[in-house]
Amino acid sequence: MRTSILALAAAVVLTGSAQAQTYPQRPINMIVPFAAGGPTDIVARIVAENMSKTLGQQIVVENVAGAGGTTGITRAAQSKPDGYTIMMGHMGTHGAAPALYPNLKYDPTKDFEPIGMAAGTPILIVAKKDFPANNLKEMIAYLKANSDKVNQAHAGIGAVSHMTCILFNSQIGVKPAAVPYSGTGPALNDLVSGQVDYMCDQIVNLVSQIKAGSIKAFAIAMPERSPALPDVPTTKEAGMPDYEVTAWNAVFAPKDTPKEIVTALSSALDKALDDAGTKGRLLDLGGVLPTKAERGGDWLGAFVKKEVARWTPVLKEASK
Ligand code: ASP
Repeated sequence: MRTSILALAAAVVLTGSAQAQTYPQRPINMIVPFAAGGPTDIVARIVAENMSKTLGQQIVVENVAGAGGTTGITRAAQSKPDGYTIMMGHMGTHGAAPALYPNLKYDPTKDFEPIGMAAGTPILIVAKKDFPANNLKEMIAYLKANSDKVNQAHAGIGAVSHMTCILFNSQIGVKPAAVPYSGTGPALNDLVSGQVDYMCDQIVNLVSQIKAGSIKAFAIAMPERSPALPDVPTTKEAGMPDYEVTAWNAVFAPKDTPKEIVTALSSALDKALDDAGTKGRLLDLGGVLPTKAERGGDWLGAFVKKEVARWTPVLKEASK
């Protein structure tokens, strides 16, 4: 009897580790909590393509939009923790959401196995091409004078485009009408066609439209200009030095995903970020790649805790 229980226990242990060793055996679902074609989707598809090669199985991106990204992340958090559902979270879903959603169904600091940072994405202030201003100062003056007429696009409460424009609007003292979208991919289409006036968005979504002149970029909210858009002034150069913000996009798995699987995913992501082609695509779009020290799950887990602590008071104050 004793022997058979031991044998059974050994068999269970073997099955668990054998499963992790042979992972993945089928395609992996990566939930992107916004519409296709926007910044989170762009970063996800670029890294997923290279990770798929390393893992020997396809990572299939599934767009589950809604509620500023919290719908998709809730679904991903509640998925089976077997390595076959992972997600691309970001500064909104894993940093801002706790401050803006009193009934959020996940805790960014507890309900995930962090896989690793994928890319930082500086924020730009952009407007439709015939917005009546030629620089940030003129834009701010126009917004202040026409606060009741202008509208601002965003990707839902708590999305990066929402939270970073809450900060921008509160710093300049305007409260425009906000138009929510399922992602800034569709929002950008409406900005190009002039249906909305302005937005605060992540660089990877914007480079080609800015270069083509189909939208105006007034400033990039980082200390140095981006090599991807060398003509766009920093917020400091444009006269708003206190507005500096770079978003981030990172891969997570649901809590209790086996450690070996988390490790396999983290090293595939690490490898993707060292791959010349993958790196080049992200850099061309203005992405900022994590240094070696900023890679992996441990670093990301500690970072998310700091981000939630950093954003909660700031956003509660700015959204008053
Ligand atoms: N991540 C973007 C945001 O937070 C939206 C998107 O990816 O479409 O605004």
